[in-house]
Amino acid sequence: MKKALIILIILLLALPCFADQYKVLKVVDGDTIDILYMGTKERIRLLNVNTPESVHLDQSRNTLMGKKASAYTKKRLDNKSVDLEFDSKPRRRYGRLLAYVIVDGVNFNIELVRRGWSPYYTKYGINKKYHAQFVAAEQNAKAQGLNIWAVANSKSANSPAITKTITAKGYSGNVKSLKFHRSGCKYYNCSKCTVKFENRRAAIHAGYVPCEVCKP
Ligand SMILES: [Zn+2]
Repeated sequence: MKKALIILIILLLALPCFADQYKVLKVVDGDTIDILYMGTKERIRLLNVNTPESVHLDQSRNTLMGKKASAYTKKRLDNKSVDLEFDSKPRRRYGRLLAYVIVDGVNFNIELVRRGWSPYYTKYGINKKYHAQFVAAEQNAKAQGLNIWAVANSKSANSPAITKTITAKGYSGNVKSLKFHRSGCKYYNCSKCTVKFENRRAAIHAGYVPCEVCKP
């Protein structure tokens, strides 16, 4: 009996370790959620990811891929309790906290990259702690052609000769910016972050937005 009491006390002492969990109030889109943070609603923007748009005020930027990414995040995080991990001190951008979201012990930011819903987004700096994991996750998604990495026409992609023809007349998507360009656009310059699309529709379907300069 005494032993059971000791175990209970140990469990109670361990509780605070799990108590820093935050309730997800709303999944806004693939990379943004609202949580209950110290008694108030806080908007969290996930660090080092950038999923295609689904709720942008400019409707033309919202894509099917964006909606799919959003649905994935909803499925994983809706009504869940999550942990947050901040990169050094909590940073804010546009009034949102930037954080890693840990769900069921998994870093969800890296999961988004591994599943091909986002590139490893380094526009605002690389991540020191998880850099290798993000890179590996991105390579995995790329190798499997998952979601944003899916080549528009997989049949053509298997044939180098046909791919070459498509390259000449097709469109180039930049997986970092999620924009697509006409071939020859001077703003398109990223050999390692390229996906090819046979036509405009395929690029938009995959979650890419047209470049403002070459207007593909
Ligand atoms: Zn362009």
